Amino acid sequence: MLGRDRIQYKTTDQIRLMRKAGLVVADALDAVRAALRPGVTTKELDAVAHDVIRSAGAVPSFLGYGHPPFPAVTCISVNEEIVHGIPGARVVREGDVVSVDCGAILSGWHGDSAFTAVVPRADGTVDPRDADLSAVTESSMWHGIAAIRAGERLGEIGGAVEDHVADRYGLVEDYGGHGIGTEMHQAPHVLNYRTRDKGPRMRAGLCVAIEPMLAAGDPASRELADGWTVATRDGGKAAHWEHSVALHDGGIWVLTARDGGEAALGALGVKVAPLAD
Ligand code: MG
Ligand code: MG
Repeated sequence: MLGRDRIQYKTTDQIRLMRKAGLVVADALDAVRAALRPGVTTKELDAVAHDVIRSAGAVPSFLGYGHPPFPAVTCISVNEEIVHGIPGARVVREGDVVSVDCGAILSGWHGDSAFTAVVPRADGTVDPRDADLSAVTESSMWHGIAAIRAGERLGEIGGAVEDHVADRYGLVEDYGGHGIGTEMHQAPHVLNYRTRDKGPRMRAGLCVAIEPMLAAGDPASRELADGWTVATRDGGKAAHWEHSVALHDGGIWVLTARDGGEAALGALGVKVAPLAD
């Protein structure tokens, strides 16, 4: 839908600024991950992210976004919720599948990232089916990121995500990734599946958030009455992973990953290209 709108191509200096925003988001998500345990409320987790963003001198991008204005700095989506869950009084329980999405603005540049975690039971174990759902969602994201290459079509990203998921899980098609820069959501829209129209060729300066969502069962979704939360229709669990990625003359750099994506992409044979300060 946004695929043919103008893409904001970034200079290397602008990508360096986006990296700083990306690291604020990484710090916020790490802090939430450390605080995630049975008994904590999703509102308390949101406050943890807010503190990190505020301390960094950054601005939360989700707060007040859209209509109705989003009332928090993270989206926290539990179990059958796929994305856009509103933090509140809900208490996290053992075995919950919790997706946390966070965005921040630093010096006018945005970062956007999400992870899913399965909350261990008292004995430290998790349901292996839930762990696999999250792991395949994460690896599908890395396969999508690995497909970002100058000269290739944007549609290679969704093709790589779809090929990796294959028939193991339901691929949520109603939401996707997006360009990111001086706005959280920019052109192009990045699909998580293959289409006949493969879209524009990627080139240096492209910055995109890659964010596949998988459902354990049917991926059909519905929006809840709060105007935000998106959940599976069949009540099956879902997972969501996201990173913001820059393509520059030297290659790709995962702006919201502390190691720039080196470990996960290295395992796929892709060498990341961090920009020196
Ligand atoms: Mg996000
Ligand atoms: Mg996003």
